[in-house]
Amino acid sequence: MLTTFKRKRKRLQSYTWLGLPLVLIGGWFFPKLGFFLLSCMIGAAGVALYKGRAWCDWMCPRGSFYDLFIQKISEKKEIPEFFRKKGFRIFMMSVLLAVLGSQIYFYWGDLNKTGTAMVRILTITTSLGIILGTIYQQRIWCHICPMGTVGNFLSDGKKPLVIGEQCGATCKLCSKACPMQLKPYEYKDEGIMGDNDCIKCSTCVAACPKKALQFEDKLKKAA
Ligand code: SF4
Ligand code: SF4
Repeated sequence: MLTTFKRKRKRLQSYTWLGLPLVLIGGWFFPKLGFFLLSCMIGAAGVALYKGRAWCDWMCPRGSFYDLFIQKISEKKEIPEFFRKKGFRIFMMSVLLAVLGSQIYFYWGDLNKTGTAMVRILTITTSLGIILGTIYQQRIWCHICPMGTVGNFLSDGKKPLVIGEQCGATCKLCSKACPMQLKPYEYKDEGIMGDNDCIKCSTCVAACPKKALQFEDKLKKAA
């Protein structure tokens, strides 16, 4: 089941990741492609209002790229705890949004220069994500990505993952499979996953041998 599920998810990601080279490479020749960055920001925030960080699953070109390619060369080490700290994430988000805002202000009215500035920011942050993803785990950037942090803030209670009583919290296969290295079993007593960084990818649902995990909307539909 997990293999079939992974194949399906890869298929979706294999379409969306193409948006990354389109902007990263194409943007140096057609700078207005850089504005694609803004549409991604709006898309991530919009989806978060209804489905939490679901955008980051397969709709985000960069997230898809990390899962498809960096995962193969990643050391797959545990993501250091401070990458999950609210203070560090807000700091990263503030720095990147300040850089983006100042570039837009500075080049106001010149769409090509503004677009190039966005391509430059995308190039620098993606390169950083590749380096960190190779040293640690492919999705480490998704913990400090400003779009992910905004998505985290807007995700509270959206499309919750339910942890059923079948879970013994011992095998931890859900966590081993999770691309974000989250730990659904830690929320067994509450019965609902309380980590807003869940990208709603369903990998854990497919990986759980006890069939203890399911998203609330799917349970409601089945009832
Ligand atoms: S894989 Fe399933 S049974 Fe195992 S710890 Fe996770 S939720 Fe519990
Ligand atoms: S907890 Fe499950 S659904 Fe959420 S990111 Fe991890 S594997 Fe995906």
